[in-house]
Amino acid sequence: MNNNNPENLVFFIDGQELTSFSNDCQRQEHVGIAYEWEGENVVHLRFEPLPHSFGITHKVLFTKKPDNATDAPIIVRVADNGQATVLYRKTELSYEPNIIPAKSDLYSRNKGILELNILEQKRVLIIGLGSFGSQIGIELAKAGVGTFSLMDFDRVELHNLARHTATVNDLGRLKTDVIEQAIKGKNPYATVHKYPVNINDDVELLIREVAKADIVICATDNNRSRFNINRCVVSTRTPCIYGRAITRAEGGDVFIYRPGGACYCCLLGNNWFNAAMEEITNEQSARNDGRIAAYTSAEDADAMVQVGLSADIEPMCNMMVKLALTELSRGAQSGITSLEKEYVYPYYMWANRRERNYANWGSFDNEDQMPTIMRWYGVDVPRDEHCAQCGEKVTLDHGESFINAFGQQAAQVNVNTTIDLDNL
Ligand SMILES: [Zn+2]
Repeated sequence: MNNNNPENLVFFIDGQELTSFSNDCQRQEHVGIAYEWEGENVVHLRFEPLPHSFGITHKVLFTKKPDNATDAPIIVRVADNGQATVLYRKTELSYEPNIIPAKSDLYSRNKGILELNILEQKRVLIIGLGSFGSQIGIELAKAGVGTFSLMDFDRVELHNLARHTATVNDLGRLKTDVIEQAIKGKNPYATVHKYPVNINDDVELLIREVAKADIVICATDNNRSRFNINRCVVSTRTPCIYGRAITRAEGGDVFIYRPGGACYCCLLGNNWFNAAMEEITNEQSARNDGRIAAYTSAEDADAMVQVGLSADIEPMCNMMVKLALTELSRGAQSGITSLEKEYVYPYYMWANRRERNYANWGSFDNEDQMPTIMRWYGVDVPRDEHCAQCGEKVTLDHGESFINAFGQQAAQVNVNTTIDLDNL
């Protein structure tokens, strides 16, 4: 218990902010803000305020002058060589601060495994910031991806908390804001574009954002949005990763569209995908897209919302992140280059438990080459030349005509697939 020992106080200063102040001949002083986690002996000194920070705040004066009269409880003296010393009035002691490293050093531990310069140049569009999208966004930020577009119109609700990265303190906030903050908490240099909109209502925006992205993460929970996204990624030839959990997350699957390969719609046509097994995590959304029929009572609908454990969706999130990093790093020599040879399939299946859909799978220790739980299985999905969305026998339109044509194309999907979309 060192709480009362002022010598154990630890100060942090952002290295990039300090360097730019130090190099700016025009500026002699700057009033910043200090965040103190009282009782924890930790104080962060910032030139600019942090969004939504907790802790006690103080005024902090960054100054290059040797002496000055100020009422600031914390003074940071910056010497000509950029070195900083903290004077904390509460203790009347001087401290040497810790410097938060600049951009190039922040992810140095990833060097050798990931090609950081390449990832920094990449732009990832994440559609749906639920339990999948929130985790994937943060993982990609940790890996050093430079630019994010986040799309989700939803706000954080109590029932989200068990699986979402958001905390109780985020209740009621837009998920786009919560995830932006989490991404910037991991990588303050990331650029984040936020779109708190329903993509089904703004297909034009969706097309624009898909066209700008190097890869799209489709983490929505309904097929209508997946079809809209599929249309856009196929027409703009943008790689896209789709992931989902099956009822109570007893298993799940991940699909990657690579330009020229099978698309999400081909997957449906090839009968691998069973939408009826899909996990229902949100009653309203499931009612909107018909997975819960309109006449279902509130009580019955409630019973249909069956959400699995957070730990059981992790395998799918993890697979989506690694597929994304492999695609984004394609062609560059890095520690994950060998994965290009492993991730040759477009479709991957995973089971967490030998229940219901996986009841017939072999036990984990079986020696009969049967599929078992807790192992990934890759499946080759051939491209369907009659596919309504990517088939060579279908002409794709762009721009306005594409948007107008969408309703009609969706109807064609019904004809070309073996699953009746009306009953999803
Ligand atoms: Zn297709």
